[in-house]
Amino acid sequence: MEIEQSPKNGVKAKLRVEAPDSAISFEVERHAEWMRLRFDYGKPRTWRQLVIRDPADRLRFMHFDVVEPRNALLHRNAELTTATAVAGDIIPGRWTIEFLRNFPGEFELEWVIGDGEVLDEAFVRDEDREIWSEGEGAGRNGDLNRYDWNVCKGTGRRWYRGDLHGHTTLSDGSLSPREMTRQAEARELDFFFVTEHNVFPSSWPKGKPLVIPGMEFTSFGKGDWNALGLPGWIDCWGTGLQDGGMHTQEGQNRMMEEAAACGAVRTFNHPLAGRFAWRYPESPLRFIDLLEIWNSPTRRSTPGLTEQTMVLWNLLWNDGYRVPGVGGSDTHLRPDQSYEEGCPPDTIGDPASYVLADRLTPQDILSGLRAGHVYVSRGPELEASIEAGGCTFTFGDDLTEALAGSGDGIVRYRLTVTDAKGAKLRIIENGVVIDTQPIETDCWVHDQTFSWKGLDYVWRRLEIRDADDKLLCFTNPISSGTKEHELLTWGQLLDKAGIALDSLV
Ligand SMILES: [Zn+2]
Repeated sequence: MEIEQSPKNGVKAKLRVEAPDSAISFEVERHAEWMRLRFDYGKPRTWRQLVIRDPADRLRFMHFDVVEPRNALLHRNAELTTATAVAGDIIPGRWTIEFLRNFPGEFELEWVIGDGEVLDEAFVRDEDREIWSEGEGAGRNGDLNRYDWNVCKGTGRRWYRGDLHGHTTLSDGSLSPREMTRQAEARELDFFFVTEHNVFPSSWPKGKPLVIPGMEFTSFGKGDWNALGLPGWIDCWGTGLQDGGMHTQEGQNRMMEEAAACGAVRTFNHPLAGRFAWRYPESPLRFIDLLEIWNSPTRRSTPGLTEQTMVLWNLLWNDGYRVPGVGGSDTHLRPDQSYEEGCPPDTIGDPASYVLADRLTPQDILSGLRAGHVYVSRGPELEASIEAGGCTFTFGDDLTEALAGSGDGIVRYRLTVTDAKGAKLRIIENGVVIDTQPIETDCWVHDQTFSWKGLDYVWRRLEIRDADDKLLCFTNPISSGTKEHELLTWGQLLDKAGIALDSLV
């Protein structure tokens, strides 16, 4: 380690490692108001990640090497702190660096600590951000101690339009967080979730939409899941974790249990998408809070994958798992860029997930998701009025109790569809298409009245498809009764569907 007492108010030091014999760490000699970091892998950028903890074992910085600069400013003032660092005093002692997967082969770190003004113009103050976490209150895991889970950005019971999945420059996306927020405003989204790959921001640019924290647990080859509404970091790295974290079934199970215990909603993302498919066959199906049916619909491969995922979803419901289906743009590009030549551009809000809630708050949106009060659309908008046993319901609801008291088992289901003229409505019961109706007008009303009297277990959901059967919109099922599960694990579900993991390439 080289140490230089050079900069005005501080100490500058450098660490170079080629083959570590133990955990990588560096020693900070005195207390300071800020620390400026610069690091290098001596290699082009790729999916390399690191996390830095302070001597009190608190998470202070995380970095994903695809786009973000290889530098950071950790400051006692959150306004001056890098978006993926946690603000607070720089404390003396041993700071440790953890690398995702393995040691990158070569690593160089330069750090400068100091007090007062930060003497480097490269660190531009990024103003007008909401601070989500800072200081000792953020604890070991960078808990979002400043995030307001009840912040209200709209009132009135209605379908709030949003996106559950997207990426910015904080991981491997092309838009900065600020640009993403502007884009969501331009698309008139009410809300969106932040789901960077294994990175958890401590601040976010202010804007009109409700922004809800989350993270995409990304295993680099064995599958990805979102923790929506995640209030703090969860250890997922391979190094130093007894259960192997991201790399083992045991580690994945532990992380999913921790995520649920702290209130996050777990979504299995693009579970059949080739090299991003979910490859942990022992994952319990009860861990699936939400299933991402429709991911990134502008890619050519998406329609086929979506149909296959719907088969799995039908099997889950037929086996008594009331797992809400959702969508996510999984946006990575600028709004004028496409994944493939000739394909439409990739943007946030395509598809949009509509969530029924009383108010536009993080807690209300998360509750709506858990309840399956969701439909997913690339255009058509829906309203539903569902009546059974004297009670009213919406998509995703369980009618068991109301029907038990109703005698005749009658369900009156009125659906209003706007912006889908020329398309068709498909009605699916217990996984089978039982009716198809042409949508004849711009604002089309369809009434279904049916009886579920005497049925042990039944569910019904709707799809809107264009003349070529291309998916435009789907709802979550209403259901009644119970069914004892025969399937327990992801592997058993795939077997039932006749899908071999090895075939997903
Ligand atoms: Zn993603």
